[in-house]
Amino acid sequence: MAVKTPTVKLASGYEMPIVGFGIWKVPQETCADQVYNAIKLGYRHIDGAWDYGNSAEAGQGVRRAIEEGIVKREDVFITSKLWNNYHARDRAHEMAKLENEAWGLGYLDLFLIHFPVSQEFIPYEQLRYPAFWSDKEQTKVTPFKQVPIQETWKAIEELVQTKENPNGFVKSIGVSNFQAQLIYDVLSYAKIHPSVLQIEHHPYLTQPDLIALARENNITVTGYSTFGPQSFLEMDHAVAKTIKPLFETDAVKSVATKHGKSPGQVLLRWCTQRGIIVIPKSNSVERLKQNLESSTFDLSEDEIKQISALNVNLRFNNPPAPIRIFA
Ligand code: NAD
Repeated sequence: MAVKTPTVKLASGYEMPIVGFGIWKVPQETCADQVYNAIKLGYRHIDGAWDYGNSAEAGQGVRRAIEEGIVKREDVFITSKLWNNYHARDRAHEMAKLENEAWGLGYLDLFLIHFPVSQEFIPYEQLRYPAFWSDKEQTKVTPFKQVPIQETWKAIEELVQTKENPNGFVKSIGVSNFQAQLIYDVLSYAKIHPSVLQIEHHPYLTQPDLIALARENNITVTGYSTFGPQSFLEMDHAVAKTIKPLFETDAVKSVATKHGKSPGQVLLRWCTQRGIIVIPKSNSVERLKQNLESSTFDLSEDEIKQISALNVNLRFNNPPAPIRIFA
């Protein structure tokens, strides 16, 4: 029997499952099968993005599950994200349309501005994973392009399906990697309330004020890279290689042993119990299953605090200089 994941209601009124499958670095060759397997296991939420380069394959996996009668389109929550080179209004519309067509599911449930930085336009066919912050040869970071976030936000508002805009193909919109000042700014002109803020969130980077700000403003938080350094080992990240894996910290290990769960499940529950949505990535079916089943037990307040006390404000997903988003 597939596990049924609880959902949270977004500001848009739509429901979003609290555990999803994040597909950054899921290879194109295996992505369709892995997404299909995830849905078979019970996943109803897939977190993708233009820059992951695997939306078409992920869409194939979802469509196979729909064709086989495992799910209906409306049972699955699909997120995608607008990449930095397409922040100008017409480019944002063009990219969103291409991304929606790549998934091939009729609409996107959630569309996020991936990073609060605008870079010069690069034709779509020239931009291939992982050369996303820089040119194809990865020799120089793509220059900034002056597009205010207000223009980009307005552009994605125009994609939302409403009574007045029946041809819109996006249900909810939001932002990712934004911090306080820009969120306040967006809130000052948004005609459609941001539903989601997606941020790096794990015990080495807890960002409690940012999470409080989101909550106070009815913005649901999705945490990414819940396992901290783990994802960045795959990228040969220098700090990720030297810091203790979160799975091996006493705080996480002792709670896992006490509950008879894996350290990964404890880290995911540490988020979801506080209302933070998680989108762990795995290329293994066994881990996909384990991650999905992470909401079936509860941590005590003390256990949550014990894990949160690991915070050292350590960010792994920090773009290369001269892009200094988190300065
Ligand atoms: P993650 O924390 O999900 O870690 C993935 C790593 O942990 C992989 O090496 C995987 O093999 C391993 N793993 C998975 N399950 C495990 C388990 N149960 N036990 C032990 N190891 C396990 O990291 P991530 O992929 O960086 O983040 C998750 C998703 O978040 C991404 O796939 C993507 O969708 C999203 N994301 C978004 C942004 C953004 O800028 N908005 C940035 C990074 C990631």
